[in-house]
Amino acid sequence: NEQIVLAKRPDGVPGDEVFRYEEVETDSPGVGELLIESVYISVDPYMRGRMNDAKSYAEPFKIDEPLAGHVVGKVAESNADGFESGDVVTGALPWKKFNTVPSDSVDKVPSTEVPLYLYLSTLGMPGHTAYGGLLNIGKPQEGETVVVSAASGAVGSVVGQIAKIKGARVVGIAGGPEKVKHLTDNLGFDEGVDYKADDYAERLAEAVPDGIDVYFENVGGSVSDEVFNHLNRFARIPVCGAISAYNSKEDNGPRVQTKLIKSQALMQGFLVGQFKDDAKNASEQLAKWIEEGKIKSEVSIEEGFDKLPKAFRNLFTGENLGKQIVKVSDA
Ligand code: NDP
Repeated sequence: NEQIVLAKRPDGVPGDEVFRYEEVETDSPGVGELLIESVYISVDPYMRGRMNDAKSYAEPFKIDEPLAGHVVGKVAESNADGFESGDVVTGALPWKKFNTVPSDSVDKVPSTEVPLYLYLSTLGMPGHTAYGGLLNIGKPQEGETVVVSAASGAVGSVVGQIAKIKGARVVGIAGGPEKVKHLTDNLGFDEGVDYKADDYAERLAEAVPDGIDVYFENVGGSVSDEVFNHLNRFARIPVCGAISAYNSKEDNGPRVQTKLIKSQALMQGFLVGQFKDDAKNASEQLAKWIEEGKIKSEVSIEEGFDKLPKAFRNLFTGENLGKQIVKVSDA
């Protein structure tokens, strides 16, 4: 068995020295436990926060202990009622090839007819984040303009597609011409704007002739400063993330206050967990939209357990398109 532990706390984007591989024993499952083989492991931006020794909504990772995150795995051995070997499960688990855990720390997936990585993307935490934040806080109405940043990513791509389903005009902000083209050509966005281009501000202004009613915030910093110049009266801003700040040593704000007053806009931070009472409903609706072809889920897959650090860094270099996943096993 192998695991990856946090060797030291990162300064900026986590380099290889932050991660350490270790060979470890595999425990056989005790009563009520399962031995689970990791098949797909998710890397997510919020894990960067957990690498710091700072109080937040999620506990900091401990030095010399395995990193952890969402995993789709197969039961290799069951010593628990209701599970048998071969069952596909998902849960938050340590970065190990095999985990021995109590059966109540994972859930069986509702269907194995869909690609299993979807339980880490659109049918998992990122999809629920998009659904919950957009519909509960953004509340897009037909004909309104919705803008989303990190638009080609796991959360942003779903935000834009749900906003289209709700009849909004959708503008996505992403880095580079290829990603921007993907938004309009493959995901059905009305416009894509490249924040890395020199004419970003002009192109954004052109893309929102009627102003912005909903801004789904994933990025923060100077990308969003431009967005805030176009807020309509009573605009809504679900604040999901601020990825431009996660590795940054600069002060990235806040600098939105005067713009909120002028527009009387509502800006509300949220965590996906706050929508858990509606999670079943959200899962069913997202699955239905996928089945109907109304939501497409792009995925970037790195192959091999040893690719976890690189895959994690892809989130901050923008090398991923759609959800970044690591495939660990063919099980
Ligand atoms: P993505 O799949 O969107 O991957 C991250 C993307 O962010 C990259 O592909 C890159 O795209 C963009 N990015 C990275 N660094 C920067 C930067 N400095 N400036 C601008 N863009 C950058 O990740 P997720 O969809 O998983 O997460 C998106 C956001 O949602 C994150 O901020 C995350 O923390 C947040 N989140 C919040 C949750 C909550 O409960 N509140 C739950 C889940 C996610 P590009 O090439 O376009 O730059």
